[in-house]
Amino acid sequence: MKDQTAVAVWSFLKKRGSILRKGTVFQIQSYSIHDGPGIRTTVFLKGCPLRCLWCHNPESQNRMPELMYFEEKCILCGKCISSCPRNAIRPDGDRLVTDREKCRACGDCVEICPREARHISGRLMTAEDVMKKVRKDSMFYPLSGGGVTLSGGEPLFQPEFSEELFGICKKEGVSTAVETCGYASEEIVRTVLKDVDLVFLDIKAADEELHTKLTGVPNKPVLRNAEIIRHSMKKNLIIRIPMIPEMNATEDNIRKTGTFITERLGKDVPVQLLPYHNLGTDKEKQLGRSDVHEYARPSEDRMEAFRQMLEGYGLTVQTGGSM
Ligand code: SF4
Ligand code: SF4
Repeated sequence: MKDQTAVAVWSFLKKRGSILRKGTVFQIQSYSIHDGPGIRTTVFLKGCPLRCLWCHNPESQNRMPELMYFEEKCILCGKCISSCPRNAIRPDGDRLVTDREKCRACGDCVEICPREARHISGRLMTAEDVMKKVRKDSMFYPLSGGGVTLSGGEPLFQPEFSEELFGICKKEGVSTAVETCGYASEEIVRTVLKDVDLVFLDIKAADEELHTKLTGVPNKPVLRNAEIIRHSMKKNLIIRIPMIPEMNATEDNIRKTGTFITERLGKDVPVQLLPYHNLGTDKEKQLGRSDVHEYARPSEDRMEAFRQMLEGYGLTVQTGGSM
């Protein structure tokens, strides 16, 4: 139902041509070698419909720009306190606290800070703004087999912007890839991914109840879209499974995911197992989150055992890489 409402709203706004054409981008990384083949430019978008407990880019979850505070760099000079037009910053012992309800991410405190202890994550950019950066990197694409990857956050969460960016890449002969959680309407998937050469799709849990518990949303649209991308759109598809101990890194989940891939997608769809890392924990603190998550890393032996389990289904499986 939620899904249908999102489609209806999006279609209506699209027809009226009133959707904001700018995307919220929080990082553009050149010379990336982990987000697809060759040397790539990876564009990280802000905003995601999922709330994975282990998210390694928590600054990508909210669509709007957000303030980050790097406590270890702060010398408590107090310049930011007086610069804030909303009186959102106050001292609290040997650190500062920002009232996130009051903060509007205006950036005044970032400008004045002498130690770069404050940063606004996310800025509005047009697809053409992003392409200026991409064109500078494009000399590395042909020889290395690289191109542009849209990541996040969730590229399908900003469909107009992602569609436009992929369209320009296609016109200019730049190879394209996307890293997606797959949680979107069928219409958005078909529209945004039409100009995409390679799709990395996460299946965080094959069981609907577990998926909802871990991410906040059911997995039905994700599994349906995996089949559409593979069979109807005939895209190159790689399934990624982030592995978080005591969450989804269980034999039961691997068995169910292996069954879904072999029976519904095909044995020739490669799989990547991505071990959990705790890079998101510090970022949660920098965003002033009260709830900070940290889990144990899966051991190499455990990862190897999961890899062999999936290979038992006749799948080609890689371990390692970034989540
Ligand atoms: S970003 Fe603007 S509103 Fe937010 S704390 Fe800094 S100065 Fe205040
Ligand atoms: S301006 Fe920067 S260094 Fe000074 S108190 Fe604020 S965050 Fe700390």
